[in-house]
Amino acid sequence: MNKTVICMSCVIGLLSTLSISSCSKKSAQVSYDDQFADYPVYEGHDLELTRDSLGTHFTLWSPKATSVRLNIYPDGDSLPVISQHVMEKDTGGVWRFSTKDDLVGKFYTFNVQIDSIELRETPGIWAKAVGTNGRRAAVIDFKATDPDGWSDDKGPAVKSINDAVIYEMHHRDFSIHPESGIAHKGKFLALTENGTTNSNGSATGIDHLRELGVTHVHILPSYDYNSVDESRPGDPQYNWGYDPYNYNAPEGSYSTNPSDPAVRISEMKRMIKSLHDAGIGVIMDVVYNHTADNDLSNFSLTAPGYFYRHRDDGTYSDASGCGNETASEREMMRRYMINSAKYWAEEYHIDGFRFDLMAIHDIETMNQLAAALREVNPDIIIYGEGWTAGDSPLPQERRSLKENVARLDGIAVFSDDIRDAIKGHYSNAEDRGFATGKESNKETVKIGIVGATTHPQVDYSSGNNSKFPYAASPSQVINYVSCHDDLMLTDKLVKSMPEATVEERQRADKLAQTIVFTSQGTPFMFAGEEIFRDKKGVHNSYKSPDSINAIDWALKDANSDIYNYYRELIKLRKAHPAFRMTTADDVAKHLIFDDTESPLLISYSLVDNANGDEWNEIKLVFNGSENEEQIELPSGEWLVVARNGKLVAEGFDTIKGGATIVVAPTSALILARK
Ligand code: CA
Repeated sequence: MNKTVICMSCVIGLLSTLSISSCSKKSAQVSYDDQFADYPVYEGHDLELTRDSLGTHFTLWSPKATSVRLNIYPDGDSLPVISQHVMEKDTGGVWRFSTKDDLVGKFYTFNVQIDSIELRETPGIWAKAVGTNGRRAAVIDFKATDPDGWSDDKGPAVKSINDAVIYEMHHRDFSIHPESGIAHKGKFLALTENGTTNSNGSATGIDHLRELGVTHVHILPSYDYNSVDESRPGDPQYNWGYDPYNYNAPEGSYSTNPSDPAVRISEMKRMIKSLHDAGIGVIMDVVYNHTADNDLSNFSLTAPGYFYRHRDDGTYSDASGCGNETASEREMMRRYMINSAKYWAEEYHIDGFRFDLMAIHDIETMNQLAAALREVNPDIIIYGEGWTAGDSPLPQERRSLKENVARLDGIAVFSDDIRDAIKGHYSNAEDRGFATGKESNKETVKIGIVGATTHPQVDYSSGNNSKFPYAASPSQVINYVSCHDDLMLTDKLVKSMPEATVEERQRADKLAQTIVFTSQGTPFMFAGEEIFRDKKGVHNSYKSPDSINAIDWALKDANSDIYNYYRELIKLRKAHPAFRMTTADDVAKHLIFDDTESPLLISYSLVDNANGDEWNEIKLVFNGSENEEQIELPSGEWLVVARNGKLVAEGFDTIKGGATIVVAPTSALILARK
């Protein structure tokens, strides 16, 4: 096969010459990206492969191609081509080829040619089954990948996103350590193993999740990503996976056999089924904002330039900080995102999505996407990072920014306000937060407590990050104190409290998470924090070895006090709707702050059986100081739920009000009365 492979910047240059270079001399108003405005929109739902009784059908959208070739292979990586077929141009920018043969078991790629330039082979952008490293797409029988009982499989029902307790995890971190006691270490199947324990006999794996009480796992990227070489499954390789290659097929390194396209699909489905059977939902981390490659991405090899934003000189703009950014406002990219997310919800029963750098996507696309997903599953959970990692040609007012979240319908954003206010700024390791004794963060913690909604007792002008109540309801906010990015809480405590003892750090840890889990909004935690694991101070462990990222499950016994605290905290939240109000009005009416002079003391009550709670009043007092503080407790008999580093969801003591009560250093006091 004789072909000319040329780098995409040459093609981009070609497009530029053909389409706009002469215009740009005339008018500064014409941007490089204007050339994509007249690309035809394809309305069909049969991209790129379909099978029926008439045979196997291929349809590639590539409006500027001058010819397209389809290549059929016997395997996913090495064997030579069996046959090649010239595809025929049709309307809507697509190219077609059909055969009456059922090609199940075969693999395929496309070669797009634009004038004299033939682009490299690509499995297309809609490959749903792929071979090793995703280089060739596969024709498989999808029905055969369904586990037993799949047609009745369903995730947990959630009335509101606020009812969810989200646990963010990476497949390999969760199971790779010898102390996991799990057989399929680092694989999808790890989460199908029941009855696993560490060497002390404490539950690990899916039993641990059930015991902890989280409602949803948020799995780091599980679509096919680029960085881990699937042909070397025995080698210790690690990546978070924020480098998308095939958006619509699972990652091969998490399967037991990356070369068999059906295996990764069936194993991921088995994982989801197993979590659903345990009553746990699955949220997928999706990264539609950029691709691993620029010129050699599957987007670039099918419709060069179209799926990305550019600067006026034709270079890729880079709001992702990874070399490129996609263009959701362009109709075929918008449809791609919507249909891809829908596909995961329908075919894999995914219960929710976390959008990486969501502000790269335009508001209109996110709203259409959310509406489409709610048609598949009314309970679907959608949230994302309401920021970009660099500037974008997309105007601020169109970005799905945190500050614009009130214009996003049924979509939540991460609260960097509460995160940084509680533990200290993410980019400054030594910086402390409210829970570790910093005096200037009180008002920002309060912004977090009310879920960034309008509240008469919160002064947004004193907020560290946001200066106005950006959330229309607490359902638009994800509260957290750490995640896979930046220093995780345990490491942050070491760096910012270098003189502190382990016991003091654990007190701060408990206080920090108590604020998160009792605040209005949706709580989110990073896997392993409940057993006080750390990442040895590594803040960006995206490709660090297992020695940094793996969770050592022996810590579950060593830190059983922390573990029991987290477990009770989750139980408390789930038992009490007062922590899960769904409207800003309810929060303004039922959440009353007490006046406290100390900058390190926050005290508030959830009153009048908030959100139908059985408790008439819940009083929460957070003392971020290393000294004892005092509050005046109103009269009556109060149930003690949390005091001095101990928390029991049903309460463990009673005290009489009408007196001054001591609040222990660096701790939460939670009291309740009927
Ligand atoms: Ca891969």
